[in-house]
Amino acid sequence: MAMYNKKSIEDVEVAGKKVLVRCDFNVPMKDGVITSDKRIVEALPTIKYLLSKGAKVILCSHMGKPKGQVVEKYSLAPVAARLSELLGINVALAADTTGEDAKAKAAALKEGEAMLLENVRFDIREEKNDPTMAKELADLAELYVNDAFGTAHRAHASTAGVADYLPAVCGYLIGKEIGIMGKALSNPERPFVAILGGAKVKDKLSVINNLLTKVDTLIIGGGMAYTFLAAQGKGTGTSLLDESKIDYCREMLEKAEAQGVKILLPVDTVVAKEFPDPIDAEIETTTVCSCCIPEDMMGLDIGEKTAALYAEAAKNAKTVVWNGPMGVFENPTLAKGTIAVAQALADSEATTIVGGGDSAAACEQLGFASEITHISTGGGASLEFLEGLELPGIACLNDKE
Ligand code: ADP
Ligand code: MG
Repeated sequence: MAMYNKKSIEDVEVAGKKVLVRCDFNVPMKDGVITSDKRIVEALPTIKYLLSKGAKVILCSHMGKPKGQVVEKYSLAPVAARLSELLGINVALAADTTGEDAKAKAAALKEGEAMLLENVRFDIREEKNDPTMAKELADLAELYVNDAFGTAHRAHASTAGVADYLPAVCGYLIGKEIGIMGKALSNPERPFVAILGGAKVKDKLSVINNLLTKVDTLIIGGGMAYTFLAAQGKGTGTSLLDESKIDYCREMLEKAEAQGVKILLPVDTVVAKEFPDPIDAEIETTTVCSCCIPEDMMGLDIGEKTAALYAEAAKNAKTVVWNGPMGVFENPTLAKGTIAVAQALADSEATTIVGGGDSAAACEQLGFASEITHISTGGGASLEFLEGLELPGIACLNDKE
């Protein structure tokens, strides 16, 4: 398991230094307007700290998937404008990422000033982690700060490569992620319960192997559950299923038993004839025992009995990690299982950690976010963390002495 003990911005001298800060400003946009500035707001503590200490702050980020081309709609111009408003100072946007304008603007920065480089993914070299781009980024500054947890599982020029050429530390966002999730995984207060759900079955099944060495109880819901039910020889109708992973699930069930880890699977399932279309359409459902999902029906939520069982397990835990909704929560009729689990986490005294974009959105939409200890800012990254994989964007940072 990757345990991190990384230097943070508070461990290094920043006054008077040009500091390159990799943020996650990949905000949702509609018609050129930012629809949620949450990611910008979350980056402010690190930026404000650096500015208050007299650093010269050079911000950078990706937005969207421009694939190495300059694509106007993925310009960071709206982000620069919003940052200027939030910080109360002008944050100038460079016309390029490491070109003449970026160099000139960076060279002219004064203490307590900030600028933003244009989208790092306008440069084809970014996602290839091309050392020539990493070096050009490094040449703009004297210190590198990574505060973009959402891309920490990617080795790109601005998320990892640049650390080959500069002293490198983490910002507050990454510091918090590795502090809370690192503790939960390396030295959890027990009982430690993990809850897995959602639809990315293939990605998420591989997390289980590592989680089984950590947790006391593993709870499976959402689209993840049916491959396990199939592994137990049960019919799953037209539910989401990864046939290539049935043997793996059987292996995991055996491993859990051998290690004394409890795996909880749905005992009842809410089924319907078809997936709702549109997703929030009215839908006719029935609840069946999980051992008898009819051949022409699909499971779309955990049933009431299962929800009560899962909520009970979560309430009695001291540490809970949750990734993936229990059902198609976008539909009010199919959100009950997810609400029950979110409510249980909110009511629990445990350290509660939620990862995954849709799980985080569910907690927020359903109004439970403030009762959760930590909602991770990175879906894929938090999953790879749970999986015990090394995150290149964190591994590249300097260790504390
Ligand atoms: P996260 O973003 O939290 O990591 P995922 O992206 O893996 O979660 O999955 C979220 C999606 O899973 C939601 O859109 C939800 O509708 C879907 N989902 C949950 N349960 C089921 C199910 N039984 N069948 C199909 N889709 C499901
Ligand atoms: Mg998702």
